[in-house]
Amino acid sequence: MPMFKPREANTDRAEPFNNGPCPDCRVHNKWCFCDKFPQLKSKTPVHFLMYHREWFLTTSSVYFAHKILLDSELQFRGKKDVTPDVQRMKPENYTPLYLYPDEEAVELTPEFLANLAAPPSLIIPDGSWRQVKRFKRRVPGLSSVQSVKLPPGPLSEWHLRTSPRSDGVCTFEALARALSIIEGPEIEDSMMEFFRIMVNRFLIVRKGKEYAKDKTQLQDSTQNHRHCR
Ligand SMILES: [Zn+2]
Repeated sequence: MPMFKPREANTDRAEPFNNGPCPDCRVHNKWCFCDKFPQLKSKTPVHFLMYHREWFLTTSSVYFAHKILLDSELQFRGKKDVTPDVQRMKPENYTPLYLYPDEEAVELTPEFLANLAAPPSLIIPDGSWRQVKRFKRRVPGLSSVQSVKLPPGPLSEWHLRTSPRSDGVCTFEALARALSIIEGPEIEDSMMEFFRIMVNRFLIVRKGKEYAKDKTQLQDSTQNHRHCR
């Protein structure tokens, strides 16, 4: 099936800003934060498996994780007549791990990682609790992949949707934490720096600019697009 590389839409945008939402960061052009997108490379292969309708939710955290992790891949689940290709989620010479706190999940710790025969790659399911629970049962070849869960950590900073995950963080945060355990804290720091800007922009759009934490950034952004509203 075709792979989706939506980040290509982010380059070389010659069209002037208009009053609609930005097609890339999905907020009103006035608050566009495309210039804040980092370009990150994880050492760990990351493969998103997303319930297809999630893609169209403006606050899909995986949409953004996929955009900023340059080498990540994404496939959809739940589309009619399309079966995800599990082989693509299991790159050679890696141990695939399914990041989801289901009943079989073991805690992702340095000790656990030290005992793996090959370095880990991550499969990141995304959808409602119910949808994601079905992924492992219904996607052929996925049930044999070891599930992993995060050790207890700080509270979520995601205030936009209720988390379907029992560990209480959104998928973006879960991935950032998992990568930190596997690779060290730098990648989590870069991801979360962007995450905070993103959450803040969504809050401003929903609730008004008094939610802006960094007024300077917003002023810059507004000046750039002053023809908007
Ligand atoms: Zn944008």
